[in-house]
Amino acid sequence: MDLEQQLCLGSHLSVAGGAWKAVDEAISLELSSLQIFTKNASRWVQKPIDPKDVARFAERRAEWGSGPVISHTSYLINLGSPKDELFEKSRAALLDELERAALLQLDGVVQHPGAHVGSGVEAAIARIAEGARQVIDEAPLGPKLILENTAGAGSTIGRSFEELASLVEQIDRPDRIGICLDTCHLFASGYELRTQKGYAETMAQLEKNLDLSLVVAWHLNDSRGDLGSNLDRHEHIGTGMIGTEGFRLLLADERFFGIPKILETAKEDDWDQTNLRVLRELAP
Ligand SMILES: [Zn+2]
Repeated sequence: MDLEQQLCLGSHLSVAGGAWKAVDEAISLELSSLQIFTKNASRWVQKPIDPKDVARFAERRAEWGSGPVISHTSYLINLGSPKDELFEKSRAALLDELERAALLQLDGVVQHPGAHVGSGVEAAIARIAEGARQVIDEAPLGPKLILENTAGAGSTIGRSFEELASLVEQIDRPDRIGICLDTCHLFASGYELRTQKGYAETMAQLEKNLDLSLVVAWHLNDSRGDLGSNLDRHEHIGTGMIGTEGFRLLLADERFFGIPKILETAKEDDWDQTNLRVLRELAP
């Protein structure tokens, strides 16, 4: 594995004009992984992907020749909802996301587990697990359903490794499931990353609760909010409350070599180039 493959740096890039456009940008940024939306993230229903776009995406991806591509689901989906109508709508939408990802031959679909909106953590975990299992059983083989940890804002589920472990256990489809860890969300939900000792304790907690082979993606975002603030606000690498040291420790951690590490920071003013340069400088 060369250094770039080891780092596996990527970014969430725009698909305006077609999913293949994101691959072109990944090539120009010299990325080794990529995250996209396969539909408008704030709409429930959208027309199917044009087969011409599927072909063009595959062509551009072959030219890129690089690593994993994952998608991120719509923000509207909430499998934890106690309301049957929203639960059903969410289930259908998640299935659609997995079908779109399979069509584009993506490696996985990142999903925020959901929110209990008053029904309580345990009830929501059971509900999310039931919905996710049904969706997995109906979805085409291929892309994994990747559950992302949350910052712990509101009634969101997935703020701790324990909650993620309960979800994985209750979904009971370990081969079809992955975990995505977002550095901003980890830190905001109370996991220290800024010091060698704090980072080691966080990773020990992770390993105590989850099989490391489940961790198939990282989101690299600095955090506007402080440790335990539960604030889900991403900052550019090194400019937030985490600072550069946490990212240096993560990039040097061989347990995560070759795992996609994707920026979800604001894109204006060529910030991706700056963030990527900072990360490459921090790399071992
Ligand atoms: Zn994220």
